[in-house]
Parts: sequence; structure tokens; C-alpha cells
Amino acid sequence: MENELQVRDRLIISQFIEALPEAVIVIDAADRVVAVNAPARVLFPVLRPDDLLARSLRAPDVLDAVKRVRATGAPERVTWLERVPVERFFELHAASMEGQHFEPTMILTLRDLSEVRRVERMRVDFVANASHELRTPLASLLGFIETLQGSAREDAKARAKFLSIMREQAQRMARLVNDLLSLSRIEQNLHLRPQAAVDIVAILRHIADTLAPMASDNDVSLKLDVPGNAIVTGDRDELLRVAENLVENAIKYGASDSRSSSRKVEISLAAKQRQCVLTVRDHGPGIAPEHLPRLTERFYRVDPGQSRAKGGTGLGLAIVKHIVARHRGRLGIESKLGEGTTFSVSLPLYGD
Ligand code: ADP
Repeated sequence: MENELQVRDRLIISQFIEALPEAVIVIDAADRVVAVNAPARVLFPVLRPDDLLARSLRAPDVLDAVKRVRATGAPERVTWLERVPVERFFELHAASMEGQHFEPTMILTLRDLSEVRRVERMRVDFVANASHELRTPLASLLGFIETLQGSAREDAKARAKFLSIMREQAQRMARLVNDLLSLSRIEQNLHLRPQAAVDIVAILRHIADTLAPMASDNDVSLKLDVPGNAIVTGDRDELLRVAENLVENAIKYGASDSRSSSRKVEISLAAKQRQCVLTVRDHGPGIAPEHLPRLTERFYRVDPGQSRAKGGTGLGLAIVKHIVARHRGRLGIESKLGEGTTFSVSLPLYGD
């Protein structure tokens, strides 16, 4: 038959593409699958030799491209989105192969670009979010500067008031820039596990002392329950940052309702099978389950107005997540509406 490839040719093609790292499908002149290599079988498990391409790959753009390549002989590149079972974005390169020794065939090379696209989207969103966060305090600063240069030039009382607001706005921008820089520094070193021996008990005592004034301003009692000592493998400054962010959040958000029983934040540490588990628990309003998976995303806040009013940048938990990942630790969040929230961080003990 004219369009059929010889058995020997099929075997050679199969073995040849099986050695390639990219997902490759070869079809014959009648659009039947001649061979599929392992990476392509992973992407499209339904693809079987001898099937019609159109039966297993229901992407009209791909089939059109195949037709065009067949008509013109020129290679084509198409991208398409698969929605089922999960959303995936693919790129396909189609090129025909005709020679004296082969029946006409076409080589389809596939790439799953879903991850690349997701990262690109995250990058775009991140830049948009960061600019948006900086724009508000910047606009407010510019507004006050203009007022001070104009109508309020000679008004000492207004000047003092405006300068104090301007200071607050500038501090907000400084906090944001500092958090952005920390995040990028931690991300750059994500693959490097910190190696120092760090006294985590000393860190927790230090944080409880430093945050005592904030706790008392918020009418919160801090309870510390730690063993005599515990040494973990890590980076002291980064672990300080983790404890500080979690305890600060517990004070800021956990004690935001008025019941006196809820105005307590417990910091505890326990050693469990070569791991050390730090727990920060509040008895505040809690977080609804739909927010929990997104809480550690950059700039994700349950209540953006409340977060900004409390001086939040929306980056604290993203920083915590990255530091914990760098330490090869685990971050857990449990919360019940009306009962409170518990953040736990498990870290490897030193020597493991
Ligand atoms: P922020 O700078 O806004 O505090 P975070 O990344 O530290 O940013 O926290 C993200 C969001 O998670 C907060 O805006 C808040 O809505 C929620 N959150 C964090 N900790 C708690 C907590 N202990 N109780 C309730 N909500 C919390």
C-alpha cells in the first residue's frame, strides 16, 4: 500500500525517537500514528500506534497545522490549550520528512509549556502587585509635598500633621522594599541549605522579649513554652524572621476580636523524631478554609484593608514559606473560624 511504512522503517523510527528527550510523535501520510516515544506517552497516554491522530489529539489547531505542513512542506509551530483533565498549555512543532528511503512521514515535537506559562504569569502579576503597593503611598507623599509647597506653606500646625503622615507613608514604602529585597535574596539561595547550628530556644526568647511591647499595646499576653535548649540546622537571622513574622501576625490578627479569652498568643517548641516543631497559636477569629491554600502567596491577604491598617505588606508569610523551604522544613497552617489559628514550622535538629 502506498501510504504504509515498511515494518522495518517503523522499527527504526520507533527506536530512533525513543532515544530523544523531547516528546515526539511520528505520523504517516494518512495521519496515522507510526510511533510515539516515552515522553509523548506521558503527555498523551491515549496515543497508540495505528490510531488516527485526530482521534487521540482533539486539537483543531494542530490538525490544521498538520494539513498545512503537508500542503506546503514548510515546518509549522502551533500552541494550544488542553482543558481536561487539568489546564495545560502545549507547543507543537510539525515538520515533514521525505526521502528516497522512507514513505512520507511527519515528525511532531511537543513541549508542555504549562509551567513556563504559570511562572511567567506569576512574574507579571508580581510586578503589577508590587507597583500597585508602592503607588498608593507614593501618590499620597506627592500630594502632601504639593500641599506643603502651596496652600500649607505657612501653616505650622498643618505642616506638622502632614509631615507625620508622610513619615508613615515613607515607612510603609521602606517596609515593602525591605520585604521585597529579603524575598528575592532568600529565593536566590533557595537551593542552598543553611548549615549553622542555631539555638532556636534563644531565638524564641528573644522574639518574645522584643515583641512584648507590641503585645501589651494590643492587650495580648504572650505565653512561651520551650524546652531548655534545642539546636537546629539553619540560619539565625532567617529563623528570627520566621518567628517574628508568625508571632507578629498572631498579635496583629489573632487578637482582633474583643473577647478577653482570645487575647493570648502561645509560642511553643517540641522535639519530635529528629525534628523540632515550633508552634505559634492564637485564639482569634481564625481564617476561613478557602483562604488557607493561598495564604503564603505574595500579596495575598484575607482582608487587604485590615492588613494595610496594621502596617502589613502582604509578604510576611511568603517570606516565612521560602525560609522554611530553604531549611528543608515544613510549614503547617490550621485554623477554625471563631477559634483561632495555629502556624507550625518543623525544622531538622542539628546533626541530622
Ligand atoms: P501581612 O503583611 O498582610 O500581615 P502576611 O503574609 O504576614 O502579610 O499574612 C497574609 C495574610 O494572612 C494577612 O493579611 C492576614 O489576612 C492573614 N493572617 C496571617 N496570620 C494570621 C493570623 N494569625 N490570624 C488570622 N489571619 C492571619
